[in-house]
Amino acid sequence: RAKSAGGNRAELADPEADARAITRHGLTTALPSALERGEFFIEYQPLVHLGDGTVSGAEALVRWLHPQHGVLGPDRFIPLAEHTGLIVPLGRWVLEESIRQARAWREKTAGPLRINVNLSPCQLTHPGLVQDTVDILERAGVTPDALCLEVTESALIGADDGLLKPLRRLAEMGVDIALDDFGTGYSNLANLRRLPVSVLKLDRSFTQGMQQYPADPVDLKIVEGVVSLAHSLDLAVTVEGVETSAQADQLRLLGCDTAQGWYYARPGPPEQLHTLALADATS
Ligand code: C2E
Ligand code: MG
Ligand code: MG
Ligand code: MG
Repeated sequence: RAKSAGGNRAELADPEADARAITRHGLTTALPSALERGEFFIEYQPLVHLGDGTVSGAEALVRWLHPQHGVLGPDRFIPLAEHTGLIVPLGRWVLEESIRQARAWREKTAGPLRINVNLSPCQLTHPGLVQDTVDILERAGVTPDALCLEVTESALIGADDGLLKPLRRLAEMGVDIALDDFGTGYSNLANLRRLPVSVLKLDRSFTQGMQQYPADPVDLKIVEGVVSLAHSLDLAVTVEGVETSAQADQLRLLGCDTAQGWYYARPGPPEQLHTLALADATS
């Protein structure tokens, strides 16, 4: 494209792309000090049992309170942190902070609340993952069953045994592994049997066809098939992006186990989960 438009002129003609690149560069160089200065924070989005609507736990979603740009979502900076390797200490911080939070919830509610934490592919290949996780759980006095690590389907496509080994060890210890954004990665379904996963998180794109009654019949069939496959492999099914009561009803009828989405709650401060869990306990 640059050639046909005549060398540098094509680049100069796209000032927005330049601005984006400059911002990206600025954000990238600011990442390490942001971690030191404590500019990251975590919002927790509740997960509910579809059967009775009670809270089962929450997913930890990291945000960056940038001094100039305000609150930035993970899509703006996680790819940059992955590129520079900062994702390893940042991911460790998210894990530590979320597990500490899970312990506080469990103490306050005396319930089996669980915390879901997202893992980047770079964290999977980092040799410290298993030991760091063990240490963090021990320091917080939290049992491994309180933790679910979410790994995207695309990160595990074609994964060799070297990549799966740390996940297997964590699974053996009692940590749940969830396959995030399931259905977007074109993975071989037969492949599921070799992965140490116990939860499928069905991507939002599948639940979108169910926002209204009657649902798109093809979407219904697909979700029905995935749920039956998952259950036959002893996997639980979590659905993402539930925004309407029609979706919640139809997904419950299809046998999905847990759900997450704006219909229940937006990601929010840790007190939100505490309040919801206490309301369950007294209702
Ligand atoms: P994800 O793990 O698939 O997380 C779900 C995303 O869907 C979140 O976006 C959440 O806010 C959003 N969401 C939840 N309910 C609804 C809904 O009903 N409708 C719609 N439209 N969206 C909903 P968010 O917080 O922007 O996070 C985006 C992605 O960033 C996450 O996708 C995850 O892949 C990544 N991420 C977040 N925190 C971390 C982290 O600590 N470490 C790593 N490695 N990745 C993270
Ligand atoms: Mg996730
Ligand atoms: Mg997801
Ligand atoms: Mg998703």
